[in-house]
Amino acid sequence: MDHLERPYNPINEYYKKRFGEKVYKISVSVPGTCPNREGIRGMKPCNFCDEWGSAAFPEFREKELSKQIESIKEVVRIRHRVHKFLLYFQAYTNTFRKTQVLKDHIEVGLKSEDICGIVVGTRPDCLSENVVELLNHYAERTAVFVELGVQSFDNGQLEWMRRGHSAEKSIWAIEKIRAQCPKVNLGIHLIFGLPQETDSDLIKTAHTVNKLNIDNVKLHNLHVLTKTPLEQEYLRGDFKPLEREEYVRRVGLFLRHLDPKIYVHRLTAVASRHDELVAPRWTTEKMRSYQFAIDYLKERQWEQGQEFSKQS
Ligand code: SF4
Repeated sequence: MDHLERPYNPINEYYKKRFGEKVYKISVSVPGTCPNREGIRGMKPCNFCDEWGSAAFPEFREKELSKQIESIKEVVRIRHRVHKFLLYFQAYTNTFRKTQVLKDHIEVGLKSEDICGIVVGTRPDCLSENVVELLNHYAERTAVFVELGVQSFDNGQLEWMRRGHSAEKSIWAIEKIRAQCPKVNLGIHLIFGLPQETDSDLIKTAHTVNKLNIDNVKLHNLHVLTKTPLEQEYLRGDFKPLEREEYVRRVGLFLRHLDPKIYVHRLTAVASRHDELVAPRWTTEKMRSYQFAIDYLKERQWEQGQEFSKQS
């Protein structure tokens, strides 16, 4: 890890090692749903989730997938000067519907030579044998990344978010992918800024992640979007999002206890639709928030893994 550059282990380094050059993840939007939205087991949508199910480009949803891919690639190629892409099925739960639907989408993506892998976003309770077999099958053919929406290892927090799955289910899912899909690169999403979250919760989360065989983590700051239950809590004064500095302090604490070998996607999440963001406003400032985080960590000489070797 080059700590002079960045005080954490960025996923881009992994991409460069694996693909020999910079690659860019392009998010596509396909009409979808998830167990929460379908009311499975009486579940309700997660309290923070907007109607687009976390899609980056919901306006593309009805556009033919191959056309979406080509137009997004074109923009990204010029803007970021990259030649290879990972196709990211981000919105909703991509392994909830029939496995054949995901298979068809993957096949469309893999027709493009410059797509060097796929990224499938899903939840811990949507990993049937068919899904796992499918992931394993494609991992023999291309690079397959799974991003699992774990969000928290605290059952009380999961309940508050209305996730509809437990921490135990997340651990089960991680172990299942590990056992049955050895070539799949496995990442988890975590949310910071949950109510009553303490420093010891964050350290405990890092310890849990270190013990599981996880390749990377993606960190989100909990932000409030319009037309979500969280917005109601926010308006009633029952939920207060974190200020930038406090969020970054929590990220720093987590990183110091995180295994330095685990790759990290990003330090702050950006609201994909600024028009839907209620709070906090700093979430719209992608580069400023990123630089703030880097400066904050460097000023304190905080680095990923500093406390890792002290763990028993
Ligand atoms: S966050 Fe995912 S699982 Fe939760 S409601 Fe949104 S799309 Fe469904």
